[in-house]
Amino acid sequence: MGFKTRPEMLYSFTMKEFCSLTLFECQDWMAQNREKPFRASQIFDWIYAKGAQSFDAMTNLGKPLRQKLSEEFAFPVLKCIRTQHSEDGETIKFLWELQDLRKVESVLIMSGDRRTVCLSIQVGCPARCAFCASGKEGLKRNLSVAEVVEQALHIDRFLKEKGERVSHIVFMGMGEPMENYETLVSAIELLNSPDALNISQRRITVSTVGVVEGIRKLGLEQFKVNLVLSLHAPNQHIRKKIIPYSRKYPLEEILIAMDEYAHLTKRDITYEYTLLDGINDKQEHAEELAALLRGKQCTVNLIPYNPVDGLHLKRPEKDAIETFRSILVEAGINTTWRYTKGKDIAAACGQLALQK
Ligand code: SAH
Repeated sequence: MGFKTRPEMLYSFTMKEFCSLTLFECQDWMAQNREKPFRASQIFDWIYAKGAQSFDAMTNLGKPLRQKLSEEFAFPVLKCIRTQHSEDGETIKFLWELQDLRKVESVLIMSGDRRTVCLSIQVGCPARCAFCASGKEGLKRNLSVAEVVEQALHIDRFLKEKGERVSHIVFMGMGEPMENYETLVSAIELLNSPDALNISQRRITVSTVGVVEGIRKLGLEQFKVNLVLSLHAPNQHIRKKIIPYSRKYPLEEILIAMDEYAHLTKRDITYEYTLLDGINDKQEHAEELAALLRGKQCTVNLIPYNPVDGLHLKRPEKDAIETFRSILVEAGINTTWRYTKGKDIAAACGQLALQK
């Protein structure tokens, strides 16, 4: 009987990943390997400041140390196999191949001075929202810390060539951040750390489908990042239809957890609402939503549905979007809306990774 090697099996045999390490852990490795601790800072500088793409490029390290690092650590763990530029030049998608040959994507959105990177946290997604490409094939696996951090690192290197840097991070790519919680927290620490990417916590945003215990835990972490709830409906009944995952948590409980998060962290709370023609975009829905959020310190971000191949959903007409928005504004709710950037390159995450 012959065995077929499946990619997901290969994955568990790979080496440790360098970009999962904090500076402290790297110093610890140096001590265990009878190397000077300052070597750790040198490597971090090579990777996060100078954009080195291999240990071999780190010319101020001795050859034996470079050799040992290459034998022990995988770096880089992501390979960019495709980029796609929007017509207006403001959005670039990066498709990454992982070591087990699975694929994920990140999006760079360049708007004014902002250089925002939208990161993926899982291959696929367990939430299976009706309008989203990422959940179409369910969850394949969690990403590792290095697989998350390197998405930002490589895009930062790309920007540095133009004298720019990543300024903002949003966890709004493939996957559900709260379902890969430990990785999320370690990745945020590295993205934020002055030793690594040095991105301020105020410029990091986590978007969740509404995992109550995850929202609670995140509120108790030492760092304070912005939080977005993908709400998409004014009540549990409609929400369950659009987001099968939301059966797990009553909407009231999620909203209480969001209020607690705002209170504990003093960070901005945003409710994302993807408008779907005939499903959640009627006047009565806007009125119900306004009543649900009345008195809360929050922003509602309206996103007209961005068409996904194979899904039979429609973006509402501009008039319907305007009416929806004005009802919220009149109710005193801070409301923004955006036409999805990079529509011509299928900027809603997951769409590129699903293309064969
Ligand atoms: N799982 C997390 C993060 C990924 S989805 C979450 O649910 O928040 C991030 C956002 O992408 C969602 O809020 C949703 O509004 C948006 N999105 C996904 N597919 C979309 C589509 N086809 N059109 C418009 N917005 C979409």
